[in-house]
Amino acid sequence: MRRVVVLSTGGTIASRRDPSGASVASDGVAALLRRLPIALDLPVDGRDVLCLGSYLLAPADMAGIVREIRRALADDSVLGVVVTHGTDTMEETAYLAELVHDDPRPVVFTGAQRPADAPDSDGPRNLADAIAVAAAPDARGLGVLITFDGAVFAAQGTRKTHTVAPAAFSAPDAGPLGRVRDGAVSITARPVRNPPLDLTALDLADIRVDVVACYPGADATVLNAVAAAGARGVVLVGTGAGNANPAINAAVARLTADGVLVALSTRAAAGPVAGIYGNGGGLDLLAAGAVPTGVLRPSQARILLTALLAAYRDPVRVAEELARRTGGSFGARLDSCLAERT
Ligand code: ASP
Repeated sequence: MRRVVVLSTGGTIASRRDPSGASVASDGVAALLRRLPIALDLPVDGRDVLCLGSYLLAPADMAGIVREIRRALADDSVLGVVVTHGTDTMEETAYLAELVHDDPRPVVFTGAQRPADAPDSDGPRNLADAIAVAAAPDARGLGVLITFDGAVFAAQGTRKTHTVAPAAFSAPDAGPLGRVRDGAVSITARPVRNPPLDLTALDLADIRVDVVACYPGADATVLNAVAAAGARGVVLVGTGAGNANPAINAAVARLTADGVLVALSTRAAAGPVAGIYGNGGGLDLLAAGAVPTGVLRPSQARILLTALLAAYRDPVRVAEELARRTGGSFGARLDSCLAERT
């Protein structure tokens, strides 16, 4: 009989207060499914994968979750898969799953902002919604999704944008793909997706990719330190459209010459990275070898860079794939497009 598989990994949706007053992941999938607010009209098969706050997960743990998704989808009677997950790093695991997802059936991540022992936890409703989306014919072909507070998002480009509100997620550059309410799923947009990466290459354990922030007065100390620690990739979080300063620019040139891949993202909430400014701005960073990440924010840029380094090893190939999957050399294109207008 057709069914949905729910994989439980922990997070607030599974958390209860311990004697010290700290909320910790403790419920398994059976407890989550017992609290569903509505009767389901299809069978659900629950599996415990992990029971951890998602702030504890490393990329290798995330790859383990992705393998469990693949295992669930090996069964043809499965209509779709739901993953319950902490909200803090849901955007990373969901995006990693999307990068290798090669199946029309939906994979739907969800969680909660209020713990399992809160009288008004949002977890049961979010889980019921996610199951409805996983079983919905209209969700086929949409890839990996995040369903939260009644909204359905594509994994790519979606991130946690509120620390505590029930509407924890948004996709600032694209908006939601649709809505779900009381079992009714309405999809109004379809995402543009990239070809899947090979899951067998997803050995992320030894691939160090660090995130380094640019801020007023920042020097190259952190960049040099992560390179010395063995980073094979760095996501540089620029200001504005992806800017830094001459000291960081010089370090980027050194790192890229040494074969460390530098991906350029931004701390701004929306919009693409673009090569516009000199004096250590984005135009200089691109000339120094940094690869712009389009509208991908640091959390997901790091996952993409880690996965590409695992898949291809060769930094030149990784740089090409990174540029291709994040909108090509958008920075350069914006630059020439601005030049044409002046
Ligand atoms: N705040 C988080 C959550 O919603 C904690 C975590 O990511 O596990 O689950």
